[in-house]
Amino acid sequence: MSERGYGSCAKYIQRRGEIDRVGEHLASLGASALVIVDPFIDETYGARVDASIAAAGVAVQRVIFGGECWEGEVDRIVAAAGDSRPATIAGIGGGKTLDTAKLVAAELDARILCFATVASTDAPTSGLAMRYFEDGRTDRPIFLTRHPDMVIVDPELVVRAPVRFLIAGIGDALSTWYEARSNRDSRSKNYIAGGQGMPLAGMAIARACHEALMRDARGAVAAAREGLVTPAVENIIEANTLLSGLGFENCGCSAAHGIHNGLSILPGCHSKLHGEKVAFGTLCLLVLEDRPQAELDEVFAFCEDMGLPTTLEAMGLGSATREDLLRASEAALNPGEATHATDAELTPEGILASLLAVDAMGRARLARG
Ligand SMILES: [Zn+2]
Repeated sequence: MSERGYGSCAKYIQRRGEIDRVGEHLASLGASALVIVDPFIDETYGARVDASIAAAGVAVQRVIFGGECWEGEVDRIVAAAGDSRPATIAGIGGGKTLDTAKLVAAELDARILCFATVASTDAPTSGLAMRYFEDGRTDRPIFLTRHPDMVIVDPELVVRAPVRFLIAGIGDALSTWYEARSNRDSRSKNYIAGGQGMPLAGMAIARACHEALMRDARGAVAAAREGLVTPAVENIIEANTLLSGLGFENCGCSAAHGIHNGLSILPGCHSKLHGEKVAFGTLCLLVLEDRPQAELDEVFAFCEDMGLPTTLEAMGLGSATREDLLRASEAALNPGEATHATDAELTPEGILASLLAVDAMGRARLARG
């Protein structure tokens, strides 16, 4: 495969105290901005954000995020902008707030600033937005014509958020290398410019993501639990946000995300975060691809140390029937699902077998202690 494509956000900044520099960053992108803020973040940090905006002299309209990234919310915010034509749309919050900001920016042809207040997914850096329906069911990914102009993460905010978000981000980042390898082996296209061959840079980043997780995730979670910012925490924030984001976009997703999407049709796992479900999907991917037991053992041990789910029970699916799981397996193979980039023979029965095999191994390991 000779053609290849690479895409990324234009600038990434990860620094303590960045919440006090929002105004400065907005000013570097243009004279006016519409800022979409998560309601909890607005309550907690709103005064500091306002102070930095006032100091920078940017004309800012602020909108509180309604809680779901869906068409109606995007329309509401576009209408709120009226004829003001802001130079930049900024999102300050979690993945859904940032994805909404990207979609609003696409409507208004504005620049994009993503300020991530948690490190729970790799959404911030990507040039796509996951859209949902008002009730929280997945609608579809929207591929944008531009990437975020600036992605900012403040580690102080990340460690003040519940540690479960950081752990979920680790689960999402865990899939990056394994799914990149699937895409390389199946010679699938990435998500750049309508689908290009995978660049060497993509694989190098996915590998760096994996190495950071294996080296630093355990220490990072221990420190973050105490609200501490250590080098391990900073490495994991970068792995979860930048490395995982660039890795999945430039290499592609496979069955870890496809099985996540399939399982998401079952209400039992609706209380689980994206990365928690993706971690379980990663274990299923390794079974589907017939990877060596030593590799499975390594990933199981990692998930157990992190507190990421390794059984159906832990996924909230303890009472799911075989029929439920078969329906989810079929959904994982819907046309266009990332599962198809997996380098394996793919049938609903095979997916179901991988779910049950991971569950059996996970339960056996827990019983052994
Ligand atoms: Zn993901």
